[in-house]
Amino acid sequence: MSKDAQTGPAAVPGCIFCQIAAGRIPSIRVYEDDDFIAFMDIAPQTEGHFLIVSRAHYELLGQVPDALLARALPLAKKLSQAALRGLGVEAFNIIQNNGEAAGQAVGHWHLHLIPRRDKSEIPLKPGKPADLTRLPFVAENIRANLK
Ligand code: 5GP
Ligand code: ZN
Repeated sequence: MSKDAQTGPAAVPGCIFCQIAAGRIPSIRVYEDDDFIAFMDIAPQTEGHFLIVSRAHYELLGQVPDALLARALPLAKKLSQAALRGLGVEAFNIIQNNGEAAGQAVGHWHLHLIPRRDKSEIPLKPGKPADLTRLPFVAENIRANLK
């Protein structure tokens, strides 16, 4: 078992993904190891939509240890390649919602892997042209807070 899985926070009572990780709530799994489980989303955005979930309970990206995050993207790459091959799809989105305003409904850190067959499956509003008088200040607010 990896260090993160051994030392990660305890399961949170009432957290649906903690219960899925512990096998107390059933899921249709596509992958599991000491640190992550991946299972089919119960309300898929497209056919083949699945979730990559840390076994340990972290709510937001900022709380997930770097060592675990360093495993997450290579795993997403591996599972996306399996999904593309297995589903005969060429495109996919990885989405990770942080906080309620961003659409996070389950407060246990996870990545969405969403196979895409057509842009119209999940319509995205185009962005508005940036306000170029504000953009440098917005960027500075981010730069100034780098730690
Ligand atoms: P979020 O909005 O938190 O980023 O995404 C949560 C995702 O978890 C949603 O896509 C939702 O359909 C999925 N989900 C919620 N409850 C369950 C469950 O009990 N089982 C499975 N397999 N997926 C779930
Ligand atoms: Zn949890």
